[in-house]
Amino acid sequence: MTLLRFEHVSKQYAGGYEALKDISFEAEAGEMLFITGHSGAGKSTLLRLIHLSERPTRGAVLVGGRNLATVRRRGLPQHRRRVGVVFQDHRLLMDRSLFDNVALPLVIAGTARAEIEKRVRVILERVGLGGRERALPIMLSSGEQQRVGIARAVVGRPDVLVADEPTGNLDPDLAAEVMALFTELPAQGTCVLVASHDLHQVRRLRRRVLVLDHGHLIDDYRPEAA
Ligand code: ADP
Ligand code: ADP
Repeated sequence: MTLLRFEHVSKQYAGGYEALKDISFEAEAGEMLFITGHSGAGKSTLLRLIHLSERPTRGAVLVGGRNLATVRRRGLPQHRRRVGVVFQDHRLLMDRSLFDNVALPLVIAGTARAEIEKRVRVILERVGLGGRERALPIMLSSGEQQRVGIARAVVGRPDVLVADEPTGNLDPDLAAEVMALFTELPAQGTCVLVASHDLHQVRRLRRRVLVLDHGHLIDDYRPEAA
């Protein structure tokens, strides 16, 4: 099933710079793909069009068959519940416990308390932070903090998970560990897009790769079946 579809998408920022030029691709439910290319290639812009922090200038972005142009301001919170986001700098609430940080999307969605407690415990276990619910993010290493950020992004079982340079601040060993979580953690059927300029690391994970260059989609590379 096609979950995500870009149809001839261009994005021009105020000031005139065209960050994306006529981008078309589709991704399936459950598929993982990397977006790579040099700094300034348009990776962040592509992800912002999915969680609607930006709108395309031309063309259409569809999630689950719905053209996002039909999502009005009022519908944004509901749309964003379907899209999990991981930031490079994790953006955790530093004065709140791991539990509160990870629970946040579920609290916003109005999930029942017992269900929240169960799901947060399970997801923290799965990112290797079982039993640390009461800890504050400040007590964690940067790799552990990013794990919390990923747990928060997947706990609501989003249709799409987007991550913008999620390992940009980590040393290579930790980066590989954190990257592996993106292949293991999302719910079945979640479409995962990870932007990374680290082509070397991306190739090692043997997934589909979209290559951007100055706003053009110049390659859509699928590793041969194992
Ligand atoms: P990447 O994530 O690959 O580094 P970006 O999508 O962040 O690329 O940026 C693509 C281009 O668009 C860059 O030249 C950047 O300076 C420009 N750009 C990004 N955001 C904005 C913005 N809000 N306003 C104007 N130009 C922007
Ligand atoms: P990221 O790579 O995480 O998107 P950036 O540093 O590229 O972070 O962008 C941070 C913010 O600055 C974004 O909101 C982006 O839209 C804006 N921005 C990036 N490049 C430009 C630019 N050339 N002109 C204006 N705003 C920009």
